[in-house]
Amino acid sequence: MVSLSSVCVYCGSSGLVNDVYKDAARQLGTRLAEAGIRLVYGGGRVGLMGLVADAALAAGGHVIGIIPDHIRALEVGHNALSELLVVDSMHERKRLMIEHSDGFVVLPGGFGTLDETFEVVTWKQLRLHDKPIVIADIAGYWAPLVTLFEHITAEGFVSGGHRRLFRVASDTDGILDALHGRAPL
Ligand code: AMP
Repeated sequence: MVSLSSVCVYCGSSGLVNDVYKDAARQLGTRLAEAGIRLVYGGGRVGLMGLVADAALAAGGHVIGIIPDHIRALEVGHNALSELLVVDSMHERKRLMIEHSDGFVVLPGGFGTLDETFEVVTWKQLRLHDKPIVIADIAGYWAPLVTLFEHITAEGFVSGGHRRLFRVASDTDGILDALHGRAPL
């Protein structure tokens, strides 16, 4: 079983979303804190990002935010985090998020979340890391993406299959199991 001290959560910056996604973000933040796992995330207060961080902090967790200086105002940089790392670029943010984390969870999100997801998956494909990645398919949100991955693999554009690169989970228990390697690939 994998031992994790910090987990990066990628998720949407929009708050104009169904409550089922907000609840999942809060639950994950709480569960990570209760498990003594540090949360690494994008450092903002907005959308699911703020919810996951606030829930982890409320449960006594350690939260590290990593935010580029130029979007601090846009994403309302969280001012009550355990640590806030202010960086120069989106690229540096993504690199540090990967370096500071032992595993990754992809909650529902938009283009930014997809960008972060593709980077962490492709870096694993290129063997730049070998950390667990869990796609949190809350209420079926990521089902079209998983179908796309299956299509890409079936058509031969991903060699050796994509299944070893990530796991898919549908709720908080499943996410924790998958992070710890207790769920099938
Ligand atoms: P979204 O899923 O679009 O709501 O964005 C989620 C997070 O991804 C936000 O914190 C965005 O700032 C971040 N993001 C968007 N594009 C990029 C990028 N190219 N590199 C790093 N982070 C990004």
